Amino acid sequence: MVRILLRFPEKIVNQPIISQVVLQNTIHLNILAAHVNSHGGEVLVEIPSKEDARRAVKAFKERGVIVAFPKLVGVDEEKCLHCGACYSLCPVGAITIKDDFSISFDREKCIGSSCGQCVDACPTRAIILTREIDIMELENENRSSH
Ligand code: SF4
Ligand code: SF4
Repeated sequence: MVRILLRFPEKIVNQPIISQVVLQNTIHLNILAAHVNSHGGEVLVEIPSKEDARRAVKAFKERGVIVAFPKLVGVDEEKCLHCGACYSLCPVGAITIKDDFSISFDREKCIGSSCGQCVDACPTRAIILTREIDIMELENENRSSH
């Protein structure tokens, strides 16, 4: 799975760009989060394969969308006190309390740097947002094509 953050500038926010990219390139994508208004928008999508993600990045950029790769949650277990301060803040249920009252993070569910609410709440700064290794290649391609 590759997560991509799409930023739509004001001049293109009213265009049906996501459906165009999906239909014209036969790409499957899942919208995880969206914040859109008349001034622009940010949409976090998840794409199953790296090859489809590569094609999607190209297609979105051709249509004027700014593409970024969000960082996802990671926890320094040595710093975590399992205090639970982060737990109730997560909008997607990526943080859970286990039977032994320890806190568990699900990186697969985390919507990453477009959220970041738990990071600021942690009293010990145990939570960091990091990039997944396998998207670094895509990210480098994206950067070099700007
Ligand atoms: S960054 Fe947001 S989505 Fe991810 S675990 Fe923290 S609160 Fe949940
Ligand atoms: S807020 Fe920080 S210390 Fe508390 S449970 Fe969450 S990660 Fe652990």
